[in-house]
Amino acid sequence: MENTCIICAKQANSPDIVWQDELVSISHMVRHPDGTDNYLGYYMLETRRHVKGMYDATEEEMAAVGVMLRRLSRAMKQVLGAAHVYAFFIGEGVDHLHAHVVARYPDTPRAYWGPAVDEWPEAPRGSLKDIRKLDADIRNVLLEQPRDLD
Ligand SMILES: [Zn+2]
Repeated sequence: MENTCIICAKQANSPDIVWQDELVSISHMVRHPDGTDNYLGYYMLETRRHVKGMYDATEEEMAAVGVMLRRLSRAMKQVLGAAHVYAFFIGEGVDHLHAHVVARYPDTPRAYWGPAVDEWPEAPRGSLKDIRKLDADIRNVLLEQPRDLD
């Protein structure tokens, strides 16, 4: 762990953590902690270990990422009513492997589909309190989901 990594720091001690185990961690993006314009349904799925990219992760870590992408995206469809859920691995901003897992709402205009989905002005947005409520609902669904395939 590098002391300067914001992802390692968040995982070590943060109320933002929705769920984590020994391999992966889930938290909601909070761009504006004091604002009410945070896109609701913008999760980060990260490895626990500080690795730069998918090429540095173990197969066990990437398998855990895949399982949690499935579980989290299903929870987001259930809780948010998302029409679709994106996962973006970019990794140029922070040297710690992470996916942006973002809901697309049913009425989102075609022009906002894809990486710009959170720029749709009419999208559901909220405060840190709204995010915490959403996190609790997502956590409950994650804990209820069976780990096997259904
Ligand atoms: Zn890190």
